[in-house]
Amino acid sequence: MKKRILFIDRDGTLIIEPPEDFQVDSLEKLAFYPKVIRSLGQIVGDFEYELAMVTNQDGLGTPQFPEEHFWPAHQKMVQTLESEGINFDETYIDRSFEEDNAPTRKPRTGMLGKYLDNPQYDLANSYVIGDRISDMELAYNLGAKGILMQDPSHEIYYPKPVVEEVVELITTDWEEIFQFLKVEEELYQAPNRSAKIHRKTNETDILVELNLDGEGKYQHQTGLGFFDHMLDQLAKHAKLDLHIRVKGDLHIDEHHSIEDTALALGEAFRKALGNKRGIERYGHFLLPMDETLAQVAIDFSGRPWFVWKGAFKREKVGDFPTEMLHHFFKSFSDAALCNLNIQVQGDNDHHQIEAVFKAFAKSIKMAIKKDGLSNDLPSTKGVL
Ligand SMILES: [Mg+2]
Repeated sequence: MKKRILFIDRDGTLIIEPPEDFQVDSLEKLAFYPKVIRSLGQIVGDFEYELAMVTNQDGLGTPQFPEEHFWPAHQKMVQTLESEGINFDETYIDRSFEEDNAPTRKPRTGMLGKYLDNPQYDLANSYVIGDRISDMELAYNLGAKGILMQDPSHEIYYPKPVVEEVVELITTDWEEIFQFLKVEEELYQAPNRSAKIHRKTNETDILVELNLDGEGKYQHQTGLGFFDHMLDQLAKHAKLDLHIRVKGDLHIDEHHSIEDTALALGEAFRKALGNKRGIERYGHFLLPMDETLAQVAIDFSGRPWFVWKGAFKREKVGDFPTEMLHHFFKSFSDAALCNLNIQVQGDNDHHQIEAVFKAFAKSIKMAIKKDGLSNDLPSTKGVL
């Protein structure tokens, strides 16, 4: 698993920034930000983030800000945090002045090279937490997200609209940051709704890999060109990632390959849907294709039922026997444990089959849609 990082600013975020000179240069000026110790302790305890402190200390080491004025308060802060289990993996201190335009100074990333272009780190799921817009610019420059420690009721000026896009939370309350990260964690940890089914009999050897939360990527090798094309439609229009490989007894006929693919695909859906919490459950679609109209309704109810109304003139379209369309969806319904109702009317058999697959795909897309935060089971019965 890739590592996620919280890049945390120091002054104005971990500790109070003195309003008169912005320098914590004595022990007397050290004061923790309210609730930071408790909330950051919970964040460190409950979630897996690396912690990196990133701070600009203007002129540190010069007569304006001697080292001996800086370190006692800094060390006291670090020790206090460590005594509460909050250990920073890295501390990055830039000592330049703003006018130096140093590549190491926030919002620039000169000190943070080890995280950039490093596949070990998941910057897209990392955060910069800080009280200045330059902290949010740093988030933007890192490709991370931002939590801005400012009063959300104040108007905030973003120098570039793109910076605003990285800001996911504006608050002055560390408790709220913990609660926010908790929700983010649930989304991050949400199990991937995917399944891999390997179904092997004397007649067929079928591999199905399915990801319900995919991008519509597909690769199909069933030995039947028209069938591959239909499965492509399913993946594309339901926005699934789907890979199906079939080694079937095509020397006999197409029957077993199509039927068993439907069974394996149905099983993959049943497995990938898991406990079905948070899904829409029902889906439907009316799809025209030239003279043809296909109507599909689906309910992932946990019970198989199949209703079919349609007729074909030809025996085959390409290498696909038209009688197998009914059989494919009946077998899918049996294995996925869904109610499937399909009607199609038209003159062109190619249009009819393709319209049914596309309407099936769009219905599935609707039915499997998941509200990321909802844990609700869409049934008054309490089981699906
Ligand atoms: Mg700050």
